[in-house]
Amino acid sequence: MKLKHTRSEAAFERAQQLIPGGVNSPARAFGGVGGCPVFISRGERQYLFDIDGNRYLDYVGSWGPHILGHRHPVVVAAIQQALATGTSFGAPTESESVLAELVIAAVPSIEKVRMVSSGTEATMSALRVARGFTGRDVIIKFAGCYHGHVDSLLVQAGSGALTLGTPSSPGVPVGCTRDTLVLEYNDVEGLAAAFKQRGNELAALILEPVVGNMGVVIPTPEFLQACRDLCTQYGTVLIFDEVMTGFRISYGGAQAHFGVTPDMTTLGKIVGGGLPVGAYGGRADIMNTVSPVGPVYQAGTLSGNPLAMACGIATLETLKKTNPYAELERKTANLCEGLSQICRVKGIPHTVPHVGSMFTLFFNSEPVTNYQVSARNDTARFARYFHGLLERGIYLPCSQFEANFVGVEHTDENIEQTLASAEAVLGEITG
Ligand code: PLP
Repeated sequence: MKLKHTRSEAAFERAQQLIPGGVNSPARAFGGVGGCPVFISRGERQYLFDIDGNRYLDYVGSWGPHILGHRHPVVVAAIQQALATGTSFGAPTESESVLAELVIAAVPSIEKVRMVSSGTEATMSALRVARGFTGRDVIIKFAGCYHGHVDSLLVQAGSGALTLGTPSSPGVPVGCTRDTLVLEYNDVEGLAAAFKQRGNELAALILEPVVGNMGVVIPTPEFLQACRDLCTQYGTVLIFDEVMTGFRISYGGAQAHFGVTPDMTTLGKIVGGGLPVGAYGGRADIMNTVSPVGPVYQAGTLSGNPLAMACGIATLETLKKTNPYAELERKTANLCEGLSQICRVKGIPHTVPHVGSMFTLFFNSEPVTNYQVSARNDTARFARYFHGLLERGIYLPCSQFEANFVGVEHTDENIEQTLASAEAVLGEITG
C-alpha cells in the first residue's frame, strides 16, 4: 500500500521555485533519503497530518521541542493568553524572569541566563562570552557535534588527534575557523594532549554532552569528567550545548543526568516549547561580563518575546509538575530493545543507543562512539527503512545521523505498532 503524496509533491515543486531547496532549513529536504518531503498541515498530540490527509506517528517532534506532543492544551492556552496582550514590546516583561527562574532552578550550572531566539544564537553568544571572560581566542569542538550554523563552529573533522579547523561551508572565512580545534568525541587521550599543547590559549571547550547530531552517541563517564577536569585545570570555560538534551534527558538536562557541571550551558528546542527560544547561561561571574553589566555585547530585537516566553513557561511547568522522565525512558528502552531484537533475528548489523527519550537505530554493528564510526553506517539501508516506515504512517528524522524522540503522548500501543511496522519493513528490505 502506498500513501498518496500528490499535494506534497505539488507544494514541493512550488516551494523549490521560491525557497532554496524548497525548505527553510536543509535537514527537512529529505536529502539523506531521497524523495519528496511531506508538507504538514497540522499536528495533534503524537501525530502529524500532511496536506494529502495522511496521518503519521511523529518521532521528530519538530526536531526536539515537542516533548509534550503537538498542541498540548496547557501550552496552547498560555500562548492564547499571551497573544491577547500583544506580540512584542521591545521592553522588559515579567514573563522573562519567570522563564529565567525556571531555567535557573532546573539546570545545575546556570546562575544567570540570557534569552535569545535560537540554539545557534545561544552557542554563538556563549562562545563570545567565554572568549571575553578569559581573554583567549582558541576553542575546542568535537567532530560530529553540531552547534548550529555559527561560523567558527561549522568545522569538519580532520584526521589525527588534533586538527586545525577548516571550514566545511563556503562562505565561512578560514580566519573564522583558525582558532577552532576539532577533536574526536570520547577520546580522552587526544583531549589531554590538546590541553597540554594549547591549554593556556583555550577560551572554551564546547560539546554536546550526549550527541544527537551524528545520531545518538553517548559519552563515556571518563570523557565527560576529563572535559570538566581539564577545563578546571587550565581555566577554560566548559560549555555544554544542551540545545537538544536540555529538559529532554532529564529536567536538569545531561548535566543533571551525569552529575558533571559545566561552566556555561546553551539551551534551545524544549525551553521554547515549539516557539523560537534559545538561552545561554552559567556561572554568575561569567554571565556578568554580558552587556549591559559587562563589556561583551549581545542583543536581540525579539529576545524574550512574550509569546515565546509563555510557551516555554507552560512547557517547563508542565514537565516539572508531571515529571515524565522515568516513563519516557521506559517507553524508549522498550522500543530500542524491540528494534534490536528484530534486527538480531533478521541478522541485520545494528546498534540502538538511547539515553532518556533520545535514540538512533544505526545500521552498523560497532558501538558508535565517535564521528568516524558513525560515518561508517549503511545509509542506503537507512533510506529504505525510512521510506518503508513513512509509507506505514511513521515519521522518522530523514537522516541516519539524527536523534529520534519519544514524547509523553506516545503510548505503549504506538510503540508496539512501530515495532510491527519496523519488522515488516526490515523484512522487506533484507528479505
Ligand atoms: N546545538 C545543538 C546541539 C543542536 O542540536 C542544534 C539544532 O539542532 C543547535 C545547536 C542549533 O539550534 P537552532 O537550530 O535552534 O539554531
